[in-house]
Amino acid sequence: MKRIMRNKFFWLFLVVLFALPVLPQPIHLPEYWVTLLNYIGLYAIVAIGLVLLTGIGGMTSFGQAAFVGIGAYATAYLTTAYGVSPWFALIAGVVVTALIALMLGLVTMRLSGHFLPLGTIAWGLALFYLFGNLEMLGKYDGINGIPVLNVFGIDLESGRHIYYLIWLVVLGAVVSVQNLLNSRPGRAIRALRGGGMMAEAMGVNTGWMRVVIFVYAAVLASVSGFLYAHLQRAVNPTPFGLNHGIEFLFMAVVGGVSHVWGAVLGAAILTVLQDYLQTLLPKLLGENGNFEVIVFGILMVLLLQYARQGVWPFVARFFPRGPRAHLSDHAEPLPQRSKPAAGEELLTVNKARKQFGGLVAVNDVSFEVKAGQIIGLIGPNGAGKSTTFNLVTGVLQATSGEITFRGERIDALSSREIVKRGIGRTFQHVKLLPRMTVLENVAIGAHLRGRSGVVRSVVRLNGAEEAQLMAEAARQIRRVGLEQHMYDEAGSLALGQQRILEIARALCCDPTLLLLDEPAAGLRYQEKLQLADLLRRLKAEGMSVLLVEHDMDFVMNLTDRLVVMEFGTRIAEGLPQDVQQDPAVLEAYLGGVE
Ligand code: ADP
Ligand code: MG
Repeated sequence: MKRIMRNKFFWLFLVVLFALPVLPQPIHLPEYWVTLLNYIGLYAIVAIGLVLLTGIGGMTSFGQAAFVGIGAYATAYLTTAYGVSPWFALIAGVVVTALIALMLGLVTMRLSGHFLPLGTIAWGLALFYLFGNLEMLGKYDGINGIPVLNVFGIDLESGRHIYYLIWLVVLGAVVSVQNLLNSRPGRAIRALRGGGMMAEAMGVNTGWMRVVIFVYAAVLASVSGFLYAHLQRAVNPTPFGLNHGIEFLFMAVVGGVSHVWGAVLGAAILTVLQDYLQTLLPKLLGENGNFEVIVFGILMVLLLQYARQGVWPFVARFFPRGPRAHLSDHAEPLPQRSKPAAGEELLTVNKARKQFGGLVAVNDVSFEVKAGQIIGLIGPNGAGKSTTFNLVTGVLQATSGEITFRGERIDALSSREIVKRGIGRTFQHVKLLPRMTVLENVAIGAHLRGRSGVVRSVVRLNGAEEAQLMAEAARQIRRVGLEQHMYDEAGSLALGQQRILEIARALCCDPTLLLLDEPAAGLRYQEKLQLADLLRRLKAEGMSVLLVEHDMDFVMNLTDRLVVMEFGTRIAEGLPQDVQQDPAVLEAYLGGVE
């Protein structure tokens, strides 16, 4: 937000926006354009919700128009049938929308792949037909005679008046979503894409987070519907059908589906284009055909072909980014969990077993990690190392056996519960958010150490906690030696640095045990040395590490003990130099070549 306010283009935009309807002749804005701008604003509010839901959260909804309908019908019905104040009707509409979205969200947000968009189509249609068939909502004729809105004694009778209210809501929606995205829950939301496995491993309740942004987007749509009803002074089911749901999605995509301002731009482009084509095409091609739908479709395909990120990135070049919010040096350090004494029993894996159908991927494997140790779990490809790792981190449930951590059984817990108990992890294939900075990526790791939710973040009451989380992320970045890259996009780092970023993110969970899955894979020699150096330093600071590794040389001078697996079975365990001499290990690793 601070960054926006320092941007002179933003202020220029605001001045133009608010001066437009009141400019005198000869640049007096015709009524036609005021109407168009009003519609752009109304659509933008819905599209902003879709940027959050679809662009950032990765969930496609074709059903947003139905939520616009709920907001519109709520105020239409309550103000005409009961004569209540529109402002009361607004609150009622938002509450009803939120409740319906909550119920729909709890059911549909769990659907994956193509089932989710299909689900949204289903309830979009259902609500549309409900509007058209309820006697009390006037069936397909709808409701007329909706009263004019009154703000501080001013009747918003003309389009020029309601214009200000609509665009204030647009700005409010943009700012609220941007505030949300730059916060603890916002980082969790941005981590939802790609299945949310990483987010869960950082302690994010991804299922609930999905429902939350679904409700948020629905409420924005509902507010848009409220304004629409009082602009039109009449409602009927037509504008809340599925085709409009698709248009809203188009707007978000055309503007740039992961950029909040892109929603405003997309709404403008589609509204103007549609209006233009509706007048131009009948002149060119004759009256008897719905040509604009076809031309429209072709233009959309071309645009998505040549500007996949939408149009916003092209415009954004003219909006230079202001200086970044700097880190506060005075943030109170976050509390830390009590750490075990060196040598204390930390992780015990006792006869852990995992079967995939007939395949025994992990065959009654046992080992333990004591506090302050680095234990290596090694073996050739397909030995069952990653599967063992997934049993300990709660990604997979063991078929049988026991896993305890600091004296507590953890084998039945989810990965979200396991990270709460102090096991931090990295991924064999790095999972980070390439367009976010290193600092923001690492801060995701501190998710469980903050408490601010969506409401506090939207209204910016999370400042003190944000400063603490960011300071902690910065501290871990310095600890692993990535401070020169603090503000770089994570995707611009070399693979070795990305692996180290993941270690910093895991350290942000305040772990007592660090689990690393093949951290040296794909690294250059120098990068491997740096990584080994870092792990030694962490050990010297009292950290315990379970290192899953394929590369025998990498673990040789680094680990206290080695556990060797082959075909799911533990074939050796002991000091690295002893294990290295073990005939079974030599056989497994070298195929008995020596
Ligand atoms: P490593 O990490 O040691 O290379 P993995 O633990 O990934 O080995 O795999 C061990 C064995 O389990 C392999 O034979 C692999 O094909 C099999 N496996 C791993 N995950 C699954 C799964 N989800 N379903 C079926 N088989 C699997
Ligand atoms: Mg593996």
